[in-house]
Parts: sequence; C-alpha cells; structure tokens
Amino acid sequence: MAKSDKPGAGKGAATRMVHAGRRPFDHHGFINPPLYRGSTVLYPDTASLTGKPPPYVYGRRGTPTMAALEEAIGELDGAAGCVISPSGLGAITAAILAYARAGDHVLVTDSVYRPTRHFCDSVLARLGIETEYYDPLMGGAIKALLKPNTRLVYTESPGSQTMEVQDIPAIAAAAHDHGALVLCDNTWGTPLYFAAIGKGVDVVIHAATKYITGHSDAMLGAISANDAAWPALRDTWQALGNCAGTEEIYIGLRGLRTMAVRLERQMAAGIEIASWLRGRAEVAEVLHPALAGAPGHELWKRDFSGACGLFSIVLKPVAQKKVHAMLDSLALFGLGYSWGGYESLIIPFDPSQYRTATQWSAKGPALRLHVGLEDVADLKADLARGLEKLRS
Ligand SMILES: *Cc1c(COP(=O)(O)O)cnc(C)c1O
Repeated sequence: MAKSDKPGAGKGAATRMVHAGRRPFDHHGFINPPLYRGSTVLYPDTASLTGKPPPYVYGRRGTPTMAALEEAIGELDGAAGCVISPSGLGAITAAILAYARAGDHVLVTDSVYRPTRHFCDSVLARLGIETEYYDPLMGGAIKALLKPNTRLVYTESPGSQTMEVQDIPAIAAAAHDHGALVLCDNTWGTPLYFAAIGKGVDVVIHAATKYITGHSDAMLGAISANDAAWPALRDTWQALGNCAGTEEIYIGLRGLRTMAVRLERQMAAGIEIASWLRGRAEVAEVLHPALAGAPGHELWKRDFSGACGLFSIVLKPVAQKKVHAMLDSLALFGLGYSWGGYESLIIPFDPSQYRTATQWSAKGPALRLHVGLEDVADLKADLARGLEKLRS
C-alpha cells in the first residue's frame, strides 16, 4: 500500500507540525520540497491555455514551495485557506484591506502592534475608513462600540508589549451578532498555543518572522481564514501582488518543523525567569500571562495551551540613566526589536506615548524580554548583574 501524504492529519499538534504540508512523493521521496524559483509557467499547448487552469499559472500567484507553507500553516490553524506574505506587517495590511471598504468603521485594540496603528491612522484614514481604538480588556462590552458600518474587529492577544489578554470568544460573539468579522494577530500564541479560529476568530495573522522562522534570518507573514472569510482574502492577496520570496518561504517551512520543541523550551525558560524576576526587589510587576496571579492569567488558562518566551516587566521607579546602564551591561540579552528567534533580547518601552483609548499607568520604566534557547542559569546571572546597576 502506498504511504499517505497526510499521516499527521487529526493527530497531536507536534505531529501535525512535522507532517503538515509535506508531500514527499511529489518530490521523488525527498522529505522537503525543492525551492521552485520562477515567474513564467509554461503551458504544454493552447488547449491547456484556454481550458481549466492548471494548479500553477504564474510565479507570483503560487509555486509548490509556497503551497507547502500555505497548506502547513492553514492546516495547523484549522483554516479553509492560508496565504503567505513578505512580512508580518504585510500580512496584517493585506488582511485588513481584504475586508475594509470606504465608509467602514473598524475597531482596533489599543494594545495593537504599533506599526499596525500607523497603517490604520495613515493608509486606512486616507481610504476613508475610520479606525476606533478600544480597551483590550473590555471583552463582550465591545458590543456598545459596534456601529451599523463596523466591518471588523481587530484583536491581538496578549497585547504588544503590555501583554493584556483579550476575551476573544466574548469579543467574537459580540462582533458576529453584529455581522462584523474578527481578525487576530496571533504571533504570540502561534498556531500551536492559541487555536484562534476555534475561539471564534475569522482571520488569523502570524508574523512568521518570529517563531515560525525562529532563527532571526527571514521576514515572513501568514494569513489564514475560515470558510466565510477565505474567498475575499484570496482575491485581495492576489490583487495586491505581494508574494514572498522562495528562499524566505523555505526558511519558514524549515523553522516550522522544529517550532514545537523550541516553544516548549522557551515557554519553560520564560516562566522560570519571569517568576524569578517577580521575587527581585527592583521589579514592581511581571506581565506574563502564564504566571499564576499575573494580569490575564485566568483568561490565558482558559483559552491558551501554552506560552512563548516573550513577556514584560515594570521596574520600580528609577532614573532612566540607570535603566540604560542596566541594558548596556547585559551580555546575553541583546538590545533589539523583533523576537521569536533562538536568542534572548530586551527592549525598553513606553506605551503612554501613543495609546489613545486607555492609559498606561505604570509608575516605573517598562522592559520587554524575549527568552531564547540559552541556559537559564546564564540568563538569570546576566539579568542579576544588570539589575545591580539599578541600585548603584
Ligand atoms: C513583529 C510583529 C509583527 C510584524 O512582523 P514583521 O514580520 O516584522 O513585519 C506583527 N505583529 C506582532 C505582534 C509582531 O510582534
């Protein structure tokens, strides 16, 4: 009997992560698909040119390498279909443009990734689409903000930097009652730890640059949609013409295969370091939803099956100069944006500069940490040395 192309279907998440989107026997049995590079796709004759279109018609619209990643992420998301974008932000903007029209009102969480806010305030505003920011913690009370022209509710949970966990099922119920779609930036939860479509989301977005790629060596995004939302997404994605490069897509596929084991390790290390930080005198608050007693923990426990290595802390009030001395003294935590790779990172943030629906009321400076794959003891020692700088 010939081997099945889908041995992982219906199995555990890690098993599906290994098998989804792979068709070795389409490629002479090789485990991974080749990198198809190309623009033109030849038709054997005029009959095939005028008849039913073949699976691939032009490089921009799809290659077997691209299809492998679309199929893999789409299957992990439990989606009707998935498309790949050249960056996470590219996926976000394509997803919003797939549904929003001139005259629409869109509701966007106040804790949204800041470049998403920039897109809404500039491009959407120019297209005559009104963005209203809402309190990420309002849950089903969002009902009161839904207007007759509200096309979509945009969610991101936990929120960028400040880590608010949203009640997505309650928001989705209110939005759907009203005929609005729910979009979710699920970069933190990944397809592994937050089953967005299962929780009522219509369109789920991943900055695949982060954990899916996993090695800080490519920019990539993905958008998955349920049955109702899929045709418009596919059509707009094709209309925009923003296809990712074959090399990047391959890097995404390669990263995806080991994501479950990286995340498991980064979750454990992140929780260990977060709870250690909670015991430090210099730290006022630890914002890590997987930590018992932390903000959002109850909702996280109800809706998520895991956590990644990204969380934030608020320091007790201290001069900025000392915070900079701390950050400059760290040897293992690099200073840099992005996250989801194998390396540890730290970055200061201050959302009071740009939030509009809510107020950031922390008294001390805030830091976002990404815990990589280094030894936890070394990371703690690095942070301990850094925290000493706050006192001196
Ligand atoms: C990084 C990030 C993005 C954007 O991804 P890029 O690939 O850098 O464009 C979107 N959303 C969240 C939550 C992110 O952290």
